[in-house]
Amino acid sequence: MDATQATLDVVREMAAAMEKNRRHLTKLDSEIGDGDHGNNMNRGFQAALERLDGADPSSPADVLKAVSMALISKVGGAAGPLYGTAFLRASTALGSKEEVSADDATEALEAALGGIKQRGKAEVGDKTIVDALEPAAEAAKEAAGEGSVAAVLRAAAGAAEEGAESTVPMTARRGRASYLGARAQGHQDPGATSTYLLLDAAARVLEGAS
Ligand code: ADP
Ligand code: MG
Repeated sequence: MDATQATLDVVREMAAAMEKNRRHLTKLDSEIGDGDHGNNMNRGFQAALERLDGADPSSPADVLKAVSMALISKVGGAAGPLYGTAFLRASTALGSKEEVSADDATEALEAALGGIKQRGKAEVGDKTIVDALEPAAEAAKEAAGEGSVAAVLRAAAGAAEEGAESTVPMTARRGRASYLGARAQGHQDPGATSTYLLLDAAARVLEGAS
């Protein structure tokens, strides 16, 4: 399949995952935040689909850029601009490439992580998106040498799932949950969880396409 089409399919599956998990993410955010993360992510990805509907993206980077613009313009809160930056950096990393190799996908993930860390100033252990995305980017790098884009994303999703679970005992040092101090312990971070769900959606589509 053409890589632009595959990227569109990935975004559609990400949007479906955000819709399906809207309540779950909102429940997690109601425990340590303000209970809007599921709605934020769902609204952002629906806006991305609307933006892509009727558009004629000419590259994978074009698709990711449209997602970025939708997330930045339609999602208030911390996660919209952070994920928007991630998709924009991933788009820039892919440039005008018409095909995406395992190394390209890894570089895009690393660029996304770099954007989120630069913008949000969080590190691993702060109970944020970074706790899922940093191990995901590392796992992608390890998988890139031997494998396909699907293998890279599956490795990334697996590491993101573990990373999201690792946030349960943490206290938060960034975002709203940081106001809770020790009361944030015992709850999984919503943003780390959505990162896992997005990477899992991407991996499932690419596994099906290969
Ligand atoms: P808000 O906190 O503004 O209501 P959301 O509920 O949509 O926004 O997103 C909350 C998630 O954003 C948190 O669970 C956390 O993972 C993520 N987050 C918050 N601040 C940061 C940051 N500085 N860096 C990385 N991720 C962050
Ligand atoms: Mg919130």
